[in-house]
Parts: sequence; C-alpha cells; structure tokens
Amino acid sequence: MSEASSTTTLSVVVPMYNEEEALPALVERLRPALDGTGVSYEVVAVDDGSADRTAELLEEFRQTWPELRIVKLRGNSGHQAALTAGLHSSKGAYVASIDADLQDPPEKIPEMLDLAVAEGLDIVYGVRSDRSTDTGFKRRTAGLYYWLMRRIVGKQVPSQAGDFRLLSREAVEALKALPDQHQVYRLLVPWLGFPSGEVTYHRDERVAGETKYPLSKMIRLAVDSITNFSAAPLRLATWLGVFSFFSCFVLMAVTFVIWLVGHTVPGWTSLFVAMLFLGGVQLICVGLLGEYIGRIYTAVQRRPTFFIGYDSDASPAKGPEAKGSGAKGSGAKGRENAGV
Ligand code: UDP
Ligand code: MG
Repeated sequence: MSEASSTTTLSVVVPMYNEEEALPALVERLRPALDGTGVSYEVVAVDDGSADRTAELLEEFRQTWPELRIVKLRGNSGHQAALTAGLHSSKGAYVASIDADLQDPPEKIPEMLDLAVAEGLDIVYGVRSDRSTDTGFKRRTAGLYYWLMRRIVGKQVPSQAGDFRLLSREAVEALKALPDQHQVYRLLVPWLGFPSGEVTYHRDERVAGETKYPLSKMIRLAVDSITNFSAAPLRLATWLGVFSFFSCFVLMAVTFVIWLVGHTVPGWTSLFVAMLFLGGVQLICVGLLGEYIGRIYTAVQRRPTFFIGYDSDASPAKGPEAKGSGAKGSGAKGRENAGV
C-alpha cells in the first residue's frame, strides 16, 4: 500500500476519442474538483487518435491549466488500450480513471482518494447506484455481462463498476507487469485481489456528443472479457460436438425403426436437419477455436496495443514510475517507447 502523506500525488487518466463537444464541460467540472483536493495532481488526457478538434482544444486548455498533460496516441486504439497508455504514463501515487463524457462525476474523485488514504486501500471502485439514464438495451446487456463475469472471474468483480476507479501506485505497477494484450480492466483489477472499497454514484447522461461505444465495440469487449478469463467456450464446443454425435445415433435408430415399420419416407427433412445441425455445430466450434488461436497469435507477436505519438510532458522520464511513459518524437523512437 502506498504511504499517504502531504506530498500525495494524484494522476487522473481520461481516455478520449472525438470528445470535442464534451471537453469544455469536463474541464469546467474536473479542474475545480481536483484543485479542491489540496494534493498535487496531473490530468493525463489520452487522446485516442481523435479526428475532431479534441487535440486542438486540449492544447488550448493546457495554456491555462499546467496540470493538464496530453498523451496522444498515433491512432484509435480503443478505450482499454487508451487506459493502458494512461496508466503507463501516469506518475502519481494514486491513479484515478474517468470517462470524458461526465457520466462519472469528477467530484467523487476526492472522496475516492480520502477513502483509499483513510482505510489503506489500493483500489476504490466507483459503483453505479442506478443506471436509469442508460437505455433499456444497455441496462439489460450490462446486467447480463456482469452476471456472466462474476461467474467466470469470481465474486470479487463488483457488479455495476465500470472504468471509474482509483488505484494505488502498487496496483498500477501490478497491472503494468501483466503480459495481457487485450486488457479488460474492470476484470483484471478485481482479479489482482488488492484491498478494495467502493464509492457509489449516480450515473448521469453523457453531457454532449454521441457514445463512442457502438454495438461492435461492446461485443468486442464482451468477447475479450470471456476469452481472457475462461476456456469454458472451448469446452462448450466439445459438449456441442458430443451432443450432436449422440443425437446422430438417436436419429439413426429412429430412422431404422421407421424403416422396420415400413413407413420409409424420402427422408429429405431429416437429412437436411442433420446436415444443418452438424454444419452449425462445426462452424461454432471452428469459430471458438479461431477466437483463442487469434489470441495466441497476438500474444506470440507481442505487438504493442498503442503507440504514443506525443506527450506534452516534455521533461525526461524520471524514476521508475515514469517507465514506459510516452514517447516524444516520432518514427522509430515512438516505436521503442510503445506500450504493450
Ligand atoms: N473512448 C476511447 N476510445 C474509443 C472509444 C471510447 O478513448 O475507441 C473513450 C470515450 O471518449 C469516453 C470513454 O472511452 O471517454 C467511454 O466511452 P463512451 O462514453 O462513449 O461509452 P459509453 O458510456 O457510451 O459506454
Ligand atoms: Mg459514456
């Protein structure tokens, strides 16, 4: 556990992708909330390859807000990879992460910090007390997701905790040391098993702009979550295979009896049913194998999941906590400093 003291520093990681509309409102609320803590802090704004005016606006805000640090990724790498870039770049004794769209209230960060320091916790989760502002579809899919994850990963996964949380430096270093490629932090963090606490909050509506999580990204996150923590789908493929194998015997026996009784019919229906069933099972199994083989492939390649193109904190990296932080410059140097 990190020692709490008057020199406690806080990093706040904010991944953002095309958030030009939400950014002014975020700065307006985040800055007073952090200034009020009385601790030294940095805000690590991770620009996840935005194509709008996000980068420009960040530079503007930085003119009057020196604590704002800009880490710009070379391309859109996804929310979790942007979080990884932020964690690797952060220097604080505590690191909070928050979305840019003000669905998570920045005013809760000081509360999280106080709780962590007072009770000696390494993790403080922001837990949504209600999701009434989310759509019915999002609520139902989220409910199913957390139910499944608690079964797969374990009961320590808090239901209704997203990526709004506070971590101690020790927990951050433990996460950075993991060799995972497709990180899903809402599962990895509880899996670490550090002492943890919770702060509940009301989940607001996105302050401006559109969601940056279309259905395709939600499905990717769900697939990453399952395959990162469980080989059960592979076993499901085996069971489906066994089931179809025995049902074929049953089908053969039934057909034989029908033939004995003398009511043989041309058999098109049963033939097609069997063909479709087996074809379906085989494709499911091949697809499942493909998911895991894809993961083995990317793990063997060990390619970084993000490239930092620019870090506004131009000072040379100091001390071990700055290891892996953003690459300054471009080309080969950027690659050397790329995170995993
Ligand atoms: N985000 C990102 N990269 C992406 C998609 C999203 O950095 O490829 C950021 C986004 O800007 C926001 C956070 O991740 O700060 C959560 O996204 P969003 O609020 O759109 O998701 P939702 O709340 O709708 O699930
Ligand atoms: Mg959001």
